[in-house]
Amino acid sequence: MDYKENKFANLFEKQKANQFVVGNTTYKERIKKLKRLKNALEYTYRDLLKNALYKDFKKPFVETDLTEIYLVIKEIKVVISNLKNWTSKQKVETPLALFGTSSWIHYEPKGVCLILSPWNYPINLTFSPLVSAIAAGNTVFIKPSELTPNTSKVMADLVKDVFNENEVVLIEGAVDVAQELLKLPFNHIFFTGSPAVGKIVMEAASKNLTSVTLELGGKSPTIIDETANINNAIENLVWGKHINNGQTCIAPDYVWIHESVKGSFIEAYKKKLEVYYTSDVSTSDSYCRIVNNKHYNRLVSYIENAKETDATIELGGHYNSNDNYIEPTVISNLKDDTLLMQEEIFGPILPIKTYKNIDEVINYINEREKPLALYIYSKNKRVINYVLNNTRAGGTCINTNALQVTNHYLPFGGSNNSGIGKTHGFFGFQDFSNQRAVLKRHTIGPLNLLFPPYNNWKQKI
Ligand code: NAD
Repeated sequence: MDYKENKFANLFEKQKANQFVVGNTTYKERIKKLKRLKNALEYTYRDLLKNALYKDFKKPFVETDLTEIYLVIKEIKVVISNLKNWTSKQKVETPLALFGTSSWIHYEPKGVCLILSPWNYPINLTFSPLVSAIAAGNTVFIKPSELTPNTSKVMADLVKDVFNENEVVLIEGAVDVAQELLKLPFNHIFFTGSPAVGKIVMEAASKNLTSVTLELGGKSPTIIDETANINNAIENLVWGKHINNGQTCIAPDYVWIHESVKGSFIEAYKKKLEVYYTSDVSTSDSYCRIVNNKHYNRLVSYIENAKETDATIELGGHYNSNDNYIEPTVISNLKDDTLLMQEEIFGPILPIKTYKNIDEVINYINEREKPLALYIYSKNKRVINYVLNNTRAGGTCINTNALQVTNHYLPFGGSNNSGIGKTHGFFGFQDFSNQRAVLKRHTIGPLNLLFPPYNNWKQKI
């Protein structure tokens, strides 16, 4: 395919020419590179990044440390501890018929890769896949989101500081830049974003048969049954829903609660909001803002539409356009055809639905796209297993939420509409590698029986 006219063709050529140099680095050299990245994140750029993200949507410094910088550092540490093992020959068994041979899997880099990242956890979702790509020995283009421009700028400086552009380059820009990049014949594309854009990325990738990892979103349900410890459920749920102001791909999108515990649920939710964010959430330093006006207006229209129907605003419902503030809001009695029940909410609004029988919940979930996350609060093992075995989801937490993303020994990703491929730890290394099958024939062994002529086997033996 001719891409010489592409705006980024020169850079692409540079990385292509350098891919075997990078690909042939030892695990120790890759670790050295990752340590430079770690150092930049942990020290040189840490405050710059925290200030930039605060400017972008008032993300509290502690949250930036915990949910962005620390998670990338953790990803690097897991690679440092395991890369020697991952990059060594992975021997496999030899069937009797292949006596006289040995076989192994050789993890080789895919080549020149593209990472397209979103705005909601811009540091984590840009650098975590970069860690996997470097661990696997690739060269990388990065295009972060245009919606967090301050953070993207600091990340661009960091990348320039730590890497040569023939190994890693970060290009700032909006959709037009992403679309130009998508015309290049990358060897792998790692995209994090919405399912709608995921389809655009996959279509563009298909032109070059480029492999993709798609980390997408959707509506992630939470189930709270009648045996659940409500205080524990609320402690986790209020945090999981409102961290990053609900702008989290694995945030509980809506809740199914057994009808017998709805009253205590609302009461406890209200109390916990006060504990976490004081009685006037707008004054809390722990509560960030909606990223921009467009998303703010989208969320306000959800609330206003709900108010016009028979839905009940159980908590919150207020907002302020001055700084894109939306109060934590809990709404019940929503019809299934309302936007709140149709679209990924990505904000601090929690619809709740009540149920009598768990099968109602399971049928509802299975009639919709497979979620990125599904959470269950229950003390009843039978119910937990029944839900696990009769639904599908990218990941699940039992009696907590959102923490699956923090264990780098678990694969992270969705299923179908919520994603393709997995990331973190070994799974990220694997997605950025080709598993090359190698079979070696040794001098001994009866393999010559395979070869023609086929009518004198006895002589051969
Ligand atoms: P988005 O899909 O709008 O944008 C993501 C990236 O794609 C950005 O870099 C953007 O510039 C680019 N892009 C946007 N439109 C494009 C187009 N038409 N062609 C080519 N590139 C385009 O997503 P977002 O709004 O930044 O993030 C929110 C979404 O991401 C939510 O759906 C959320 O669930 C999902 N998400 C998923 C994960 C995960 O790990 N699975 C993590 C965070 C966010």
